[in-house]
Formats: sequence, structure tokens, C-alpha cells
Amino acid sequence: YKGYPKLLVLCTLSLSSGGLVAYSESQPDTRAPHVDPNEKEPKKKRVVVLGTGWAGTSLLKDLDASLYDIQVVSPRNYFAFTPLLPSVTCGTVEARSIVEPIRNIVKKRKGEVKIWEAECVKIDAANNKILCRSNIENNLVGNREFFLEYDYLVIGVGAQVNTFNTPGVKENCHFLKEVEDAQKIRRSVIDCFETAILPGLSEEERRTNLHFIIVGGGPTGVEFAAELHDFLEEDLVKLYPAVKDLVRITVIQSGDHILNTFDERISSFAETKFRRDGIEVQTGCRVLSVSDKDITMKVKSKEEVCTVPHGLVVWSTGIATRPVVRDFMEQVGQAKRRVLETNEWLRVKGCENVYAIGDCATIDQRKVMEDILSIFEAADKDNSGTLTVEEFKDVVDDILIRYPQVDHYLKSQRHLRDVTDLLKDPQGNDWQEVNVEQFKLALSHVDSQMKSLPATAQVAAQQGAYLSRCLNHIIQCEENPEGPRRFRGSGRHRFRPFQYKHFGQFAPLGGEQAAAELPGDWVSIGHSTQWLWYSVYASKQVSWRTRILVVSDWTRRFIFGRDSSRI
Ligand code: FAD
Repeated sequence: YKGYPKLLVLCTLSLSSGGLVAYSESQPDTRAPHVDPNEKEPKKKRVVVLGTGWAGTSLLKDLDASLYDIQVVSPRNYFAFTPLLPSVTCGTVEARSIVEPIRNIVKKRKGEVKIWEAECVKIDAANNKILCRSNIENNLVGNREFFLEYDYLVIGVGAQVNTFNTPGVKENCHFLKEVEDAQKIRRSVIDCFETAILPGLSEEERRTNLHFIIVGGGPTGVEFAAELHDFLEEDLVKLYPAVKDLVRITVIQSGDHILNTFDERISSFAETKFRRDGIEVQTGCRVLSVSDKDITMKVKSKEEVCTVPHGLVVWSTGIATRPVVRDFMEQVGQAKRRVLETNEWLRVKGCENVYAIGDCATIDQRKVMEDILSIFEAADKDNSGTLTVEEFKDVVDDILIRYPQVDHYLKSQRHLRDVTDLLKDPQGNDWQEVNVEQFKLALSHVDSQMKSLPATAQVAAQQGAYLSRCLNHIIQCEENPEGPRRFRGSGRHRFRPFQYKHFGQFAPLGGEQAAAELPGDWVSIGHSTQWLWYSVYASKQVSWRTRILVVSDWTRRFIFGRDSSRI
């Protein structure tokens, strides 16, 4: 989850440290915009990038602006370092410390990059156009609509919060997806305390105001719960002593464990630590509805429905496809899919010149599964359908070299043990040989997990960097079709397919302790891991400006505590 490439470098750093009419009900404004993005016949091919998140920014950092006419469309004109959003909710770091204007990031590029602060509201794949709507509300011009034409379109619009259509969630819950969300949570937490100490309230009312519920026991929910607990213990108890004993933090998780995509040791450590800290973890509970006063849930084991009053609910249960992407999926024949699907070169299936990167897309892994099976079949030289244990170990090594992401799923989803279990003989004795049918069965086990890469910044950033390298070389390849860059192995593709490298994941657990899952099946938990977390997150900042701001926020917090002003 929390990425940390180049560990050595990081540790060192820590030491030194438009003509279209039918789109919208209201027709696009025909008055010429101040700058018409399509006014000149561009000589260079036009690349339009949607989004300035992890995927879009990583692409823009390396995309050669001397080769392309690059235009960026995003409703926000900055990049936000999302892994530190939970820290913003409690004032551990300030919101402005984790954002960098996108214009600052692209100004170092050789050519001009045009940035439009607007939202793409419709992609017209057949005509290579998109319709955009400015999100800057202006009394004079209103929300302007305009069209952009492209030769290549890169969709990096991320995803939206998934409420699973649970009644009352949109209206009564906080989300933790954008910088504004984190700022709202920060104000609301303080509001809960200020309300709870008002005169004339019963103890029950005070308790209700101070009941913080987090729905979702994934990394974001757990990190927010830990941050809130630290804020309470380190700062708020001193400021609101009269109500300090009335505070309650509850994490509601539908599965059996929190942090269930992490190694078992990490999730059980987190559960034990939370129990010790007084954070309630309610597993096996499904939220049925949320009102402004209470939350109703079903406890799966008892088949009971209970209603609990709350002061604030943070909903952090996963992501869903944005409407603009859903509409596009219908145009390109992917209406039945849950997520926009690309091939391994990140090109949208059914579209020659549209790429999708980051949380908004998933790579079709079916071919990967076929490849894995062919590695097994190639090792089975006598076509007996079985391999010896030694031969099978070589096959697994080969698979992991070619598809490192398999390792991630096998281990983090705890399927490795299942694979070996499946390969035991019926008496449960150690297996002597591996049968192809058993292997297929084991593969089908991880197949569903393999279909999508995790929706993380790590994946998004690697996809952006990969696509910029491809686009930077595409012109050269087109000019020299048989040239040295051609990927001769297969003869069909100019580039190697995208391969995800998993560098590990972090889970900050509060009290200056964190857990990390590192490559090579290493697990590290404790105070030293928290320092590794600080080093990695300082080094991963997109600019020296934000790096210095974040480190100085941490230092300020150590010396003066967090700021509890409600501004
Ligand atoms: P985003 O970063 O969400 O960016 C999407 C961009 O598209 C934004 O600029 C948005 O404004 C823009 N956009 C939206 N709609 C449109 C539109 N219609 N037209 C044009 N532009 C549009 N991952 C990790 O690896 N490690 C972590 O520690 C971690 N912590 C996280 C903590 C939190 C609180 C959250 C919410 C996420 C965290 N993640 C983490 C996940 C990570 O943030 C996402 O996987 C990552 O942001 C995905 O990048 P993206 O570029 O696809 O989408």
C-alpha cells in the first residue's frame, strides 16, 4: 500500500534530509474562450491528459513536451500526496504542505504544457474529442464548457468513493479522498469536542458527540483511527479534560480482520494494539444505513441489527468508477465490466489511441494466466502432466521473475499456503509431484485476485512513468519501424508490457509505531518502522518545497503539539 522504492536512497535522504452538439443537455458555450486550445492546426501530435493525481503527474513529469502538444485537464490545479491525508485530518501536517501546484511540476519541461482547470464531462472516442467544463464558478462567465481534440488521450481521473448505495451515507458521512475532505474532518472533530463541553448537555449527549465511527478497516480507515487516537491522547485530553473519558473510537469492518490485505502478523498486531489503546474494532459487521444521529448495522454472526449513536462517521470502504469513465466504457463495449480494462500496454481495449492509468483502470490479466500455464507445460518435458517438486520450484521461480505481481498476491492474499495445501496428497502427506490439474486449480484461486492490481499510488505512479517512456519513444518507433527499439521477441509490440514492481506497504498504527511489509516476505513492526515511514514519506515528496514543509510540520508537532483551532 504505502510505497517505498529505493530504500537505500531513502534512508540516506532521511539522514540528510469542440463542433459537436449532442453531449450535454445544455449546449456548450459557443463564445470563443480567451485561449482557444484548438485554434492552430498543431504540427505536433496532441496528447490530452486527464487528471493530476499520482498517475497523471508521474506521466507529466517525464513526458517530452518537445515531441507533443500536451494539454492537461483536471478540476484541481495541484498534485496531492494522498498517503498523508490522514495526517491532515488531525493537523499533524497542514493541507498546503502536501500539495504542489501542477504548474510548478511541469514548468521544468522543455516545451509548453497547457493546463486547463476543468473537468472532463464526456469522452467522444469515435471523434477523438472530449468535452470539458470549467469548475471555476465565475459570475461573469459561469461554468465554461469547451472541447479538446486529441491524437492520444490518457485517462488518469482516479476513482470516486464507493458507498455501495447504502442509504444516508452520502448525506451523513465524511469521506477521506480529497484534501478538502481531510480539512472538513479536522474541523468536524474539533466541533464535536466544542459541542460536547457546552453547558446543559446530558452525559449521554456528550458521549454521543464524542463517538467517532470509522467504517472500513483498510489501511486508510486504520490510519485515520490511529491518528485520531494520537490527537486525543497527546493534545485534546489536555484541552478538554472534562470530557476526556467520554471519547470512543470504533472501527467497523465487514471482514473478519482489519488490514486484511496485509500479512497476518501485521493485522493481528494492529488489532491487539487497538484493543490496548481502547479503539474498538467490530469485525463482521455490515452497515445498513446512516442517519445524522446514528448508524444501523447488521452483526453477521448473530444476524442481529443494532443502531449506535454517533458524533461523526468517516466512510472509507473502497472505490468505484467515475461517471465519465462509466459512460466511456459503454461507448467502447465495456459496459458490463466493473472497471475500465486495458491491455498490458495500458491501452484501453477497443481503442487504439486511448490509454488509462491509475485507479480508473485495470489491466486484463487473462493473458498472464495463460502464460503462467505455458511455463508449467514447457517444464513438463515428457508431457506426463506432472512435475517433480524440484522442477515445480524452478517453474515458480520463472513465474515470479516474469510476473512479480503474482508473488504479491500469493503472499499478501495468503494464497501461497493454499497452493501448497492443494498440492498435498489426500492423506495430507508432503507431496512428491505436482499435477497440472492441481496447479490449474491453484491458479484459479489467485486468478480473481490477479485480475486487478491494487489501487495504490505505487501502481499509478509506475504506470504514469511507464507510459511516458512509451510515448516518448513512439515517434522514433514510427519513423524506424524495424529499428532497435522494436521489441523483437514477439514482433508485434514496440514495447515491453507494463510490469508492476511491488516495493512493499506501510501501515502507521499510532503511538509512533508502524508496520511495514517489505519485499522478500519481510515484516517490520514498531518504533523503528515508524522512522522508516518518516524517511520514506519525506523522500517521496514531489518537490523540495513540500518535503521541507512536511518535515517542519512533523517537527512542529513534536515540539508544540497539534493545533486544535477550528478555522
Ligand atoms: P488520483 O490520485 O485520485 O487522481 C485523479 C485525478 O483526476 C485528480 O487530479 C482529479 O482531480 C482528476 N479528475 C477527477 N475527475 C476528473 C475528470 N472528470 N476530468 C479530469 N480530471 C479529473 N496509495 C499508496 O500507494 N500508499 C498510500 O499510503 C496511500 N494512502 C492513501 C490514503 C488515502 C487517504 C487515500 C484516499 C488514498 C491512498 N492511497 C495510497 C491510494 C492512492 O492515493 C491512489 O491509488 C492514487 O491516488 C491513484 O492515483 P490516480 O492518479 O489514479 O488517481
